[in-house]
Amino acid sequence: MTNTDNSDPHYPALEAKTDARDDWARRRRKGIPTDKNLLVIACMDERIPVEKALGLELGEAQIYRNAGGKVTDDVIRSAALTVNFFDTREIIVVNHTDCGMMSASDEAVLKGLEQAAGKPLNDVPLNPALPELNLGGASLANWVYMTDDIDQACQKQVDLLRGHSLIPDSVDVHGYVYEVESGELRRPGERISREISERA
Ligand SMILES: [Zn+2]
Repeated sequence: MTNTDNSDPHYPALEAKTDARDDWARRRRKGIPTDKNLLVIACMDERIPVEKALGLELGEAQIYRNAGGKVTDDVIRSAALTVNFFDTREIIVVNHTDCGMMSASDEAVLKGLEQAAGKPLNDVPLNPALPELNLGGASLANWVYMTDDIDQACQKQVDLLRGHSLIPDSVDVHGYVYEVESGELRRPGERISREISERA
């Protein structure tokens, strides 16, 4: 049996597949951004399915997680690099109900950390790779970032990013509170389940 079709249907498909593989493997060197030009900053809490909650697939976003989903110096470092060099144009902050950052007093946490260090926290480098970076006269409680109100805290992280000199104004920044009890996201301040349970 002879093949009457002279075109080779395999070649273009194989070429596309090879190109896609090359793009995937070398996307940073080639300057290819994430598929959604998105950075997500979220709490490290194991109950937050970040990708699922935001409907994200592999390759669509960069995800930074830390205790509390707080805008720390290293979040600024990471955000500044990705928005200025990797064509990231949107940042989403995800905080959540029942966050561990609301589970103890500042004093209790600082006491526990000082006990762990075995010396005053002012003498402990913040970053072992840069021992000259220490708290100096800064507030230890501020560095730990304990939180009283998760909705206010979420809005504050958004404001910190929006107002930072290294994050251009053109970058879209939004925040959500993930409700561990319902598995849903809400905008900070929109506590629907509480509001519909109370007299107007
Ligand atoms: Zn948390």
